[in-house]
Amino acid sequence: MSDRLVLVINCGSSSIKFALRCESQATALLSGLADRLGSDQATLSWQVAGTQHCVPLADGEHATALTALLPLIDDYSGQPLSAVGHRVVHGGEHFTGAQVIDLAVLDAIRTNAPLAPLHNPANLTGIEAAMRVFEEVPHMAIFDTAFHQSMPAHAYRYALPEALYTEQRIRRYGFHGTSHQYVTNQASQLAGLQTGQGAWLSAHLGNGCSSCAVLDGRSQDTSMGLTPLEGLVMGTRSGDVDPNLHGHLARTLNWDLPRIDTMLNRESGLLGLSGLSNDMRQLEQARAEGHPGATLAIAVFCYRLARSLMGLAAALPRLDGVIFTGGIGENSSLIRALTVEHMAILGLKLDTDRNTSAPRGQACMINAADSTAIMLIPTDEERQIADESLALLPR
Ligand code: ADP
Repeated sequence: MSDRLVLVINCGSSSIKFALRCESQATALLSGLADRLGSDQATLSWQVAGTQHCVPLADGEHATALTALLPLIDDYSGQPLSAVGHRVVHGGEHFTGAQVIDLAVLDAIRTNAPLAPLHNPANLTGIEAAMRVFEEVPHMAIFDTAFHQSMPAHAYRYALPEALYTEQRIRRYGFHGTSHQYVTNQASQLAGLQTGQGAWLSAHLGNGCSSCAVLDGRSQDTSMGLTPLEGLVMGTRSGDVDPNLHGHLARTLNWDLPRIDTMLNRESGLLGLSGLSNDMRQLEQARAEGHPGATLAIAVFCYRLARSLMGLAAALPRLDGVIFTGGIGENSSLIRALTVEHMAILGLKLDTDRNTSAPRGQACMINAADSTAIMLIPTDEERQIADESLALLPR
């Protein structure tokens, strides 16, 4: 069978990230970003074989950006697409895996929009535009939430009145599913286990951060909940706070819900704690120069991460390894070291040299000889989306 091609699309309200993936190749043939959509300054930028290109877009429409991709795909691949794989944030309880997009799937994505009001409508815009532009090709939806549908009720239910679950579907869903699934599959290969086997704690640390307990390829529990705000300290998101905070701020400062939402989602996390930045590289540098806010932000980030991972260990019968991934997890030896320091009770110990000299972009073990495995695994959500899209095609 010839090498099949998948266009992976991640559509936001004002941007579309895309990547052209070939079945047999580890990296994208072409990847890029249509940015500032909805404005008269929209651009399409892409990189191919290490060279960057950028052109203005005639208008800010999503369909215009996708149409501009058609000749690029022809130029760089020379063969037709087999599928278009769309990242969709919220699949609610409808979807436990990837789906071929039809009217019922579009309807379900729309129905779940109240659970992800910033993301699902934007994802739908991208899907509908792409279905018009690439009309001959099957389109697949890969949901951030689907991997976590294997969580047992004792992990996904909140201790709230039952009607809020049965009538409003208020429960924990979890996100970053494609990443946790991808890295735990890679971990089993690295450990010499059968693909998908093993008991793992996975930490996806990017601008958004989440942790997950995975047993034999099935998510058992994860740190994000109804929305991606629950759980770990993130770039600008607070993670867990006392649920009484909303009432307290409303009563004492007269803050309304939009004000509180903005504070928790955009002004908190590393940015709020440090008073400096949401960017871990900048915080590490500031910490090295003695900045107290950066020092505190990093300390809280690592402690809360360790506490979350150790809590998730309750979901596993044993521990085969801890995985660090995402921009921070893959690149920051400091964050890995400070986090693992809090986890000695699980028998975890880093090899300092391996941790600090880990090769960029490669999966590797960084634990000491007498420790449970600790792994650094570069995530590849596009690969996971491409593979899941291809798996839905008839062979
Ligand atoms: P996103 O969630 O947007 O995909 P990434 O996975 O790219 O984000 O992660 C972005 C985070 O990774 C930023 O906080 C950035 O500072 C951090 N990061 C990237 N490289 C390094 C590095 N070498 N050391 C520390 N942090 C890094």
